[in-house]
Order: sequence, then C-alpha cells, then structure tokens
Amino acid sequence: MDSAPHDAKATAASPGRDPRKAEFEANKLKKRLRRQVGEAIGHFGLIEAGDRVMVCLSGGKDSYALLDILLSLKDRAPVGFEVIAVNLDQKQPGFPADVLPRYLEARGVPHRIVTQDTYSVVKRVIRDGATMCSLCSRLRRGVLYRVAGEIGATKIALGHHRDDILATFFLNLFFGGKLKTMPPKLVSDDGKHIVIRPLAYVRERDLARYAGLMEFPIIPCNLCGSQEHLQRRQVTLMLREWEKKYPGRMESIFNALAKVVPSHLMDRNLFDFAAVRTLPHAVDGGDLAFDVDSDLERAVASAQAHTGVDAPSPPHIAIRHR
Ligand code: SF4
Repeated sequence: MDSAPHDAKATAASPGRDPRKAEFEANKLKKRLRRQVGEAIGHFGLIEAGDRVMVCLSGGKDSYALLDILLSLKDRAPVGFEVIAVNLDQKQPGFPADVLPRYLEARGVPHRIVTQDTYSVVKRVIRDGATMCSLCSRLRRGVLYRVAGEIGATKIALGHHRDDILATFFLNLFFGGKLKTMPPKLVSDDGKHIVIRPLAYVRERDLARYAGLMEFPIIPCNLCGSQEHLQRRQVTLMLREWEKKYPGRMESIFNALAKVVPSHLMDRNLFDFAAVRTLPHAVDGGDLAFDVDSDLERAVASAQAHTGVDAPSPPHIAIRHR
C-alpha cells in the first residue's frame, strides 16, 4: 500500500542547501532508480516488446514514481512498449478525484480513471474499528483485473518496492509459516494476467526522496481512516529498527531471497533428500558438520602471539554451525 511521503518535500527543498549539490544528488538518484528498475526488468523479464503495461496509480509516492520511471525508460528502451495509467476511485470520503486526471493530462499520459464505490461495500462488511485494508485491496484488485482485460493490458504493474518485499517475507515467515514474498513477476490469482513489480530493487526511502524532488501531487491512502494491518506495521518497524542498528542487514536479507539453496533447507518438494548419497570427491556446499570460524582462529592466534599463553592451534578450533 502506498503511503504519503510527508518528509519527502523537506528533503528535496531544504533551505540553505547548495542548489548545485542538490541538483547533482537529484540526478544521481534519478539515474539510480532508472538503473534499478531497468535491472529488475532485465533480470526477471518483466517487460517484453509489444507489451501494453497497465500502471496502477493510487496517488501514493510509489505508484507515481513507478509511472514516471517507466515513462522515462520507455523513451530509451531498445524494445517498444506502451504505458497506460489506471486509477480506481473507490469513493473514499475526501478523495480528491480531480488530482490524478489533472496530473496525467498535463503530462500527456494515456490513462483511464475508473469509479467504483468499493468503500461502501467495505464499510458494510467490516465491523467498526477493524482494519479494512485487506478487503479493500482485494476488491480493488478485482476491479483492476477487469479493467486490464478491457484495455488489453499484457502486464499489470504495481508499485511495491524492496521494503514491501522484505516486510511481506517476514510476515509470511512469522505468521504464515511459509518462505515466500511478493515476487517481481507472478501470474494473477485469477490466472489471467501477469502482475509485475518493477520497483522490486528500489528502497522505499529513495522513492520518498524522489517523490519530493518530482513534487508528485500525493493523495494519502488513509483518507478512509483505516490503518494498515497491525502485523505489517510491527514488521515494518522491526525492519527499520534493524537497519538503524545494523546497517546493511536489509541488503543482506534481500540478496538472500535471490540465493536460495534447497539442499540446505527442509522442503522435500524442492530437494530429494532420500536420494542423497556419498560421493568419491569433495562437494562444494556439502555439510561441514563443524564450521571453521576464521575470525575466531585469527583472534586466538593473535592472543597467543601477544600473551604467550597456550591455546589449541587454529585447526582444532571450531564452532557448531548455527
Ligand atoms: S487505507 Fe483505506 S483506502 Fe487504503 S487500502 Fe486501507 S481501506 Fe483501502
């Protein structure tokens, strides 16, 4: 779900900043975002020649950025594809229905605005005080699939980013008992569409900065007064806290999602454990039983050198793999 980048404009136009430096940083950010989206498109085959890509534009920072980056890549891409922006006006109270059409017309972006009052349905079905986002998103998805069929879209592009992917991974791990997340490319649950996430490699904080720089006319997603799911909020806070305490941890976990080792997990559908046999040669990635800890070896060797106290020689020092 997109959220409003309340801090983004402040980042972009802080008074007293050297304008040349700010422009340099803005260009660097734009280039990085284009490169990351281009890489995701290439790595996962997200867009092919002749595609008609329907960009779901909610009015949040992520979907604005997605549309903007895809439009700029379209002008440079070696293959031809179309981009059509689609917004669903769900009739939440206070939704400024004129903002998106005005923005899209001013930029000359082909678009379609669909109006369907899913808000009343959600209000009727969900008891007061409970979070409405899950049902709201499900109804929205149904409408968007229908529209994708009507306009002949071959891909449905969503604005989920790297941090959404990580949060979903942990939600599934903690509460769903599954190792899975929202992938960059997947067939829709009705089997009829291909859903893509070209922002898969992009960090949320970069999108917030970009939205500020580009001055996108953000529409908040909580006009209806609902809050995102408590579990998602908790996981997001946990990840932010980790990143603050251990910079680089998110990067490492994210990279791990693309380096799955089925023989070192426990899914019998992915790896045939019954067929494991001894081999006449050493195996790269085979079990070490006891992993040698090279940091510990170095530390012991250095302690020995400085103190003269005897300690087991490094090859005997091992710790159990945890
Ligand atoms: S905040 Fe409101 S509009 Fe946004 S997904 Fe949740 S229920 Fe729907």
